[in-house]
Amino acid sequence: MVSAPLPWLNGPLQQALRQRSHALLIHGPAGVGQYEFGFELARALLCEATGEGVQRPCGRCTACHLMDTHGHPDFRLLLPEALREPLGWPDEEGRKKDAKPSKWIRIEEVRQAIDWTHQSLSRGVAKVLLIHPATAMQEASANALLKTLEEPAPQVRLLLTTTDPELLLPTIRSRCQRLALPLPTREAALAWLQERGIAQPAVLLDAAGGRPLEAQALASEGIDADSWSALPQRLRQGDAGAVAQWPLPRLLETLLKLCHDLMAVAAGGAPRYFPAEALPPGAALPALAAWSRELTQLSRHDEHPWNAPLLAESLVAQAAALWPGKPASAGRGRLTTLGR
Ligand SMILES: [Zn+2]
Repeated sequence: MVSAPLPWLNGPLQQALRQRSHALLIHGPAGVGQYEFGFELARALLCEATGEGVQRPCGRCTACHLMDTHGHPDFRLLLPEALREPLGWPDEEGRKKDAKPSKWIRIEEVRQAIDWTHQSLSRGVAKVLLIHPATAMQEASANALLKTLEEPAPQVRLLLTTTDPELLLPTIRSRCQRLALPLPTREAALAWLQERGIAQPAVLLDAAGGRPLEAQALASEGIDADSWSALPQRLRQGDAGAVAQWPLPRLLETLLKLCHDLMAVAAGGAPRYFPAEALPPGAALPALAAWSRELTQLSRHDEHPWNAPLLAESLVAQAAALWPGKPASAGRGRLTTLGR
């Protein structure tokens, strides 16, 4: 994919180019553009434009072009299989269509990448290895990388991303310089979404908790401002069609947001993810709190082998039962009855 210009990352990009550290840990909230930043920084580090007033990356030189076509020999990306397609790096080796894509970076890939860093430069500028996200490396892989992080070959740059540095091995953290990516201001995020043709961007930006790439992801999944605003009312009516075809993690996350907002409103506060007028009143605080705990538990295990359509239906029935005086279309069965 051609890296999207994310204006709020310009400051950190200039900072990273000034720092010139050989191992950089890029961290910030999810949906702020960590992959895009890592890729853009790699592009800047490999850009071959020279001369006064050149703002790297130039976007015109051979190296920039090679980056854009994913063919730069001095750039390597370690990505779990599950992220390849969403980020525009389709599988090289034909994975079985029905096999679930792995969310881990395999240790052989890490070892191959380490060997690659020791080979000589192809284009003589630098060699950049981007690992996104670094938390997709299991312990053995992370350990394999330690020596390279400590003493990379000359002109090698290692870029690691994470939403939470605390999830990484302390030995990894201590060998990297850190660079924090900020969330954009609301104005900047709204302007960016608007440029992308997203109608009523404020609703989707709230839906995404202020994270613009996440708002764009919602839009690309077919969730627009109107369907988002209509969702609480449809759930109240037990309308499972409102969330048909939603991936389970998206559904769970959305129900947690709904719970959060209903609890906030029940406690006299303001909602965060849904417009206030979209939230039907009357849900009781204790029931919301209990359901929120159940949802949190479930979302920790969102890769379980349960029948997802059945689970989705059951979750919608549970949502409908939050409001009194409105019998749900199905009983509020315990989730455990679906079988673990
Ligand atoms: Zn260039």
